[in-house]
Amino acid sequence: MTTTSGTPTRDTALEAITGLAAAPELIDGALRAGDGDRELTVTDPSLDVVLARVRGASTAQLDEAAEAAGRAQRAWEDTAPAERARLLRALADAIEVRADEFVGVITAELGSPLTLSRRLHVDLAVRDIRAVADALEAFTFERRIGNSVVTERAAGVVLAITPWNYPLHQVVAKVAPAIAAGCTVILKPSENALATAALFARCVVDSGLPAGVLNVVLAGGREIVDHLVGHPGVDLVSFTGSTEVGSSIAARAARTITRVHLELGGKSPSLVAPSADLATAVKVTLANAFFNSGQSCNAWTRLLVPRASLAETEEQLVALAARHRPSDPWSDDARMGPVVSAQRQAAIWRDIAAVEDRGERILAGGLGLPDGTERGSFVRPTVVFDVDPHSPIAQEEVFGPVLTVLGYDDLDHAIELANGTRYGLGGSVWAASTDEAAGIAREVRSGQLDLNGGAFNPAAPFGGFKSSGYGRELGSYGIAGFLEPQSFQY
Ligand code: NAD
Repeated sequence: MTTTSGTPTRDTALEAITGLAAAPELIDGALRAGDGDRELTVTDPSLDVVLARVRGASTAQLDEAAEAAGRAQRAWEDTAPAERARLLRALADAIEVRADEFVGVITAELGSPLTLSRRLHVDLAVRDIRAVADALEAFTFERRIGNSVVTERAAGVVLAITPWNYPLHQVVAKVAPAIAAGCTVILKPSENALATAALFARCVVDSGLPAGVLNVVLAGGREIVDHLVGHPGVDLVSFTGSTEVGSSIAARAARTITRVHLELGGKSPSLVAPSADLATAVKVTLANAFFNSGQSCNAWTRLLVPRASLAETEEQLVALAARHRPSDPWSDDARMGPVVSAQRQAAIWRDIAAVEDRGERILAGGLGLPDGTERGSFVRPTVVFDVDPHSPIAQEEVFGPVLTVLGYDDLDHAIELANGTRYGLGGSVWAASTDEAAGIAREVRSGQLDLNGGAFNPAAPFGGFKSSGYGRELGSYGIAGFLEPQSFQY
């Protein structure tokens, strides 16, 4: 696959973002500028400077997007699955062609290091879409039950509301299964990931998807909820974001019995059984907790180790944490950048300050900017050690690079701790054998559990138990989430 622009730099990214800001929305197949009252900004968190300003969509534009999606829906659902799969692959190809532009834009607005922007944010999104296309080709839309033929119908028009932490992956994790199912989509991306969404809108145009199948509107979250949740032209709302906002959206949607999918927060455990290779488990867990500057919904942010291993764990963590140093995301050797915004930095610092106030032990990191940085939304990767499981730092999502370590008495206690938060999104189990790890994992109420470091699979269902939400994304489970069965009796 050829690429368009070569290795991105701060300057080429700024040029790209300036171009995207002129017409960042996609409504009924046309790239447009918003004409609403609300001004939104694209910000570089590594310097805390504004890179571009755009106007959000007006309510008339939101209505236009809903109408365009509604008009396109039936013909799209009637398009053969093989053709829908072909167009999904064309969308993946279009992203790959613009991979360098994406790398620059994501590094600029998320602060993700260049290598991570490419290997994680862009490549994963391309793999997600291709996995959905494969699943679509194998999907059974019709079956017989006795004297009935049951047909899986598209749910209709989907409002997709996405976060910023994986700005491209979170978008395609929703829109690819939705359009595979025959739905049409109005995408409302996060205010922190506007430029990535605007570039994605260009890929939609490049792919040849029919007008109206995939629309992109920019707005603040509240405006969208006030106008489009419960709108007669919207059949299903698929939301990824914080548990609090997800709950308010579900409450709003309940008034009109609008279907909702929720992909929400997490406080996922990494449970290290007494039989496990402690050194490997500790090293991989720390890297996972700090990955993407700690901004992963399924990050393993609670390390559970046998009490007898706490001293050894402490020694290892002190040595390992020193190797995780945030730096300028544009430098070649950067492995960790800033967090997404000054607001997120302030929120994480509030959580760390509360840890200090409670007198909990900080093994590494803490308040203030990391060494080598003088400005920007940087946070010191932080390890909080041997804390009370009921402490807020052991219960609530920080959404930054903060790992909490808990000691347990025996395996039953470890499982109780693993299940002892309101969340149930991800997690990992480490043991001497995969069979032993699987046995323990079956006791953990989480949607995705990695056994002894098992790799992420973009075709496997992704989603949570408990307050981490309901519904599943990706692959065939993702497609199933956007369908309604209809039965015909003969
Ligand atoms: P957020 O809840 O603040 O925002 C998510 C989306 O909702 C954005 O598009 C935003 O514009 C919109 N929004 C914000 N406030 C709103 C409101 N009052 N009404 C309606 N919409 C509103 O979350 P975020 O900061 O973008 O993302 C971080 C959160 O997302 C974390 O809690 C993380 O765990 C979660 N997350 C979950 C998953 C998952 O798959 N379960 C994946 C990624 C992120």
